[in-house]
Amino acid sequence: MRLALLGPPGAGKGTQAARICDAFGLLHFSSGDLLRAEKLKKTPEGQKIRDYIDSGRFVPDELMLGIIRNKLASIAKQGFVLDGFPRTLSQATALTEFLAEMNRTLSLVIDLAVDPAVLSRRFEGRRVCPVCLSVYHVDLMPPQREGICDHDGARLVIRPDDMPAVVRTRIDTYRQTVTPLLDYYRQAGLLWKVDASGSVDDVWVQIEARLSQPDMRGSSAA
Ligand code: AMP
Repeated sequence: MRLALLGPPGAGKGTQAARICDAFGLLHFSSGDLLRAEKLKKTPEGQKIRDYIDSGRFVPDELMLGIIRNKLASIAKQGFVLDGFPRTLSQATALTEFLAEMNRTLSLVIDLAVDPAVLSRRFEGRRVCPVCLSVYHVDLMPPQREGICDHDGARLVIRPDDMPAVVRTRIDTYRQTVTPLLDYYRQAGLLWKVDASGSVDDVWVQIEARLSQPDMRGSSAA
């Protein structure tokens, strides 16, 4: 299976992508994680990326596509879940062309649709591990020990771009850019919308059922 997850910041793309990868043996590709690793580099490109991410704006397509091309080439031969990419119509068309060069197509694009009121609540409690990048929520998905990562014992932090003003910019940017992306995948017959306002488990039950259907099992071929 080759899947892409769409949805506003806070929709649970990273959490559901990790579950899909565990259950179906796919590779998880998070454009946000890749960019956060790039922004730590003390290069002019790293500084540029930092400015975009920390202010909640998209990294421009040209820069984004340059960074992910190699990564995509390495995962496209196997099944994967794209989390956070594509985010613009030109990224989507570039992805289609790129996969076509490898005689591949996407199997399904999952649109995680969330009620705006639910989104703000999710952000208020979101915490991340600065070491392994695992994501938690103080109420909805707490770590075993308060404020401490289950995987490596690091102290959890609030991501700079999870601050309220930046979150507003990120959600507005998503709303302004997502419609052509949804139209593109709807026309391609690839779009499947799921109500992602419920709990992680509620959303997962719906996704697992959809991905277990016979039409998905046959999708390992191009
Ligand atoms: P995320 O962790 O997916 O919410 O991404 C965090 C930030 O990384 C976003 O707010 C953008 O600034 C940047 N970003 C991630 N993926 C993309 C993308 N496909 N195109 C442009 N910017 C991106």
